[in-house]
Amino acid sequence: MKQYLTPNSKVLYDELNKYLLDGVASSFHKASYEEYPLGMAYGKGSKLYDVDGNEYIDYIQGLGPMILGYSPEALNQAVIDQINKGSHYATPTENLLKLSKKLVEIIPCAEMVSYQNTGTEANLFAFRMARAYTGKDKIIKFEGHYHGWADEQKLSIDAEHLSQLGARNRPNKIIHSHGQLPITLNDIIVLPWNDIALLTTTIERYKHEIAGVIMEPLMCDSGPILPQPGYLQEVRALTKANDVLLIFDEVITGFRASLGGAQAHYGVIPDLAVFAKAIAGGYPLSVIAGQRDIMTCGAHASGTFNANPISVAAALATIEELERPGTYDHLNEMSRILVNGIKDLGKKYNICLFTDYVGSICILEFGIDHPFIDFRDCLSHIDYHTYDKVVKMAKSYGIRLTPKRGRLYISKAHTISDIQKTLDVFDYIFANL
Ligand code: PMP
Repeated sequence: MKQYLTPNSKVLYDELNKYLLDGVASSFHKASYEEYPLGMAYGKGSKLYDVDGNEYIDYIQGLGPMILGYSPEALNQAVIDQINKGSHYATPTENLLKLSKKLVEIIPCAEMVSYQNTGTEANLFAFRMARAYTGKDKIIKFEGHYHGWADEQKLSIDAEHLSQLGARNRPNKIIHSHGQLPITLNDIIVLPWNDIALLTTTIERYKHEIAGVIMEPLMCDSGPILPQPGYLQEVRALTKANDVLLIFDEVITGFRASLGGAQAHYGVIPDLAVFAKAIAGGYPLSVIAGQRDIMTCGAHASGTFNANPISVAAALATIEELERPGTYDHLNEMSRILVNGIKDLGKKYNICLFTDYVGSICILEFGIDHPFIDFRDCLSHIDYHTYDKVVKMAKSYGIRLTPKRGRLYISKAHTISDIQKTLDVFDYIFANL
């Protein structure tokens, strides 16, 4: 199999390094082990083309938003139509009403919605709403769950060793950047996920201080890790019984686990939920959805670009495409064939791995052959070294996989021949690991 050469990506990165911190616009745009990231020229369908002209079947999808693939006609047309009418007004629009009604129709917990631009902002607003509604300050978050980069959000989402996390019932709060204000951490309680006993003890002890529990209902950011059977239902009952709000961060699972997100997939309805990434198929838009009494409790947030008309038009077009009959069958089928193919190759080459999928989110981990429970489990059992090696090799043969996280996204544009070609590359890589 012929390996790609990428000299132009290196030149681009070296030049960018003169002007940009670490040569990238976000720390997620370059894996720590990469000498330089690929520079991209354009994308079409399931594929991206780099600045050296190499073609990649893409499973990173711009970190998640590109659920329709790159440059889909319907989305392009909706955006062009809007651009011709003006890109931004900061006023109500008819499309805003149409989108808000549609979101209330498809998201189970939504009686009302509110808009921001990014997942970080929307989660911050959800924290504020939970505090305003309950009159309490503390938020419980879980190890490995990512909710944004703000001071009180970017906590305990990464670690090199298990020992860094501290005692299970009293975890360390691991910050990720110089300058994160320590005082903001006082109102965040960090716990291991998927452990109902520990959550019960904590909520029962501190219920008069706890405003909300936030989680990725399918923990995607450091896994992905599936919720234990019954766990989400038990958390729902526990939070309700103790006047604590349940917030689902559906920034990844929204529109991917199912059209109505993980809450529709698992049948567990939170008080508040946050959506971003795939909602507008590649344009910046985020949504906080929830019950009317919570959404109108007096918490406010502003924002110049909230519900920008281009993003709103993009979201309407994206949802229309996702609602077309057969879309989710296709996404599920592509995921199923991919993970089963990788599983079979693992058996063929006697490689210990775990694969599974929920909608268009696929899981691939090495060194473990059964579902794992929490972030501590990942650090104890997952063979990150083999995963990184596979990601690096796959990239040089035209397959882009998410570095480190074991998470592959399928888009509506992925075809059976993309999946077959991907499996051929995996076959070659596994034979040469
Ligand atoms: N929540 C989750 C689950 C995420 O994966 C992310 C982004 N990786 C965020 C929140 C933050 O979203 P954004 O990068 O748009 O601020």
